[in-house]
Amino acid sequence: MNELRSKVKELLGSKEIDLFVGYEQGTRLPRPLIAASAEEADRLIFDESCTGNLAVYLTRRELTGGKKTGIAASYYAMRSISRLLDENQLREGMVKVFGLTPDGGLTLLESIADVKQRLQETSAPSSQVEDEWVKEIEDMPPAERWKFWTSELSKCFKCYACRAACPMCYCTKCIVEVNRPQWIQPWAATMSNVEWQINRVMHMAGRCADCGACGAACPLGLPVHIIAHKMVEMVRQNFGEPTEKGNVLSTFKPNDEENFIW
Ligand code: SF4
Ligand code: SF4
Repeated sequence: MNELRSKVKELLGSKEIDLFVGYEQGTRLPRPLIAASAEEADRLIFDESCTGNLAVYLTRRELTGGKKTGIAASYYAMRSISRLLDENQLREGMVKVFGLTPDGGLTLLESIADVKQRLQETSAPSSQVEDEWVKEIEDMPPAERWKFWTSELSKCFKCYACRAACPMCYCTKCIVEVNRPQWIQPWAATMSNVEWQINRVMHMAGRCADCGACGAACPLGLPVHIIAHKMVEMVRQNFGEPTEKGNVLSTFKPNDEENFIW
């Protein structure tokens, strides 16, 4: 902890970073801390309970745009940062990543190549709960599954906290706010809520970090991260692991069988 604080203070003092996105102790759980001074850096913590995906702040231009930013990166934040760089949403020289060490601490990684390497060396957190949830829903007959999702999503009041929590949702104008043409009704109603979530998750195909932040952010506790988790699984089964060569939404193979058409 002291090592992290010292290193961040050193980087802030030498102007190698303007801001550091990390965690501080909250009332019950760690909460995000944006540190811009040595005094603020003294409040930084990092332990196994710091699992939130702070990479979301890297794509919030009003906060970190044009600023050299350091970040405490949990496993999912490292995954998000890697993908955001592949999508040209971050510039290598503008971000300093403190990635996970094998003993659960943090260390400054020198380059994005090091972040990618560290990701390969680190086991992903268990997704047993999400896997069991997907299986339970898949085992339902189609009519029951439809009833489950329409009942859950009928409660959604379109606050867009799921979107705000997602590091990969960075468009300056979201499809739900476009009205020429208006693809999705802006008011909360069961079918337009279903459309919103289908659209949100479709936009994540091959990009989603599977961090669960969207579900964790929903004030109603709607399990929208389970839809994203299923999408991650389907993309992996059909296209393999995402690579920096392009995600499944923006690439195609001339010899694609296109068997989804039949
Ligand atoms: S799990 Fe949710 S919040 Fe995390 S990257 Fe995927 S869609 Fe975004
Ligand atoms: S966070 Fe929950 S209530 Fe808000 S838009 Fe997303 S699913 Fe709906």
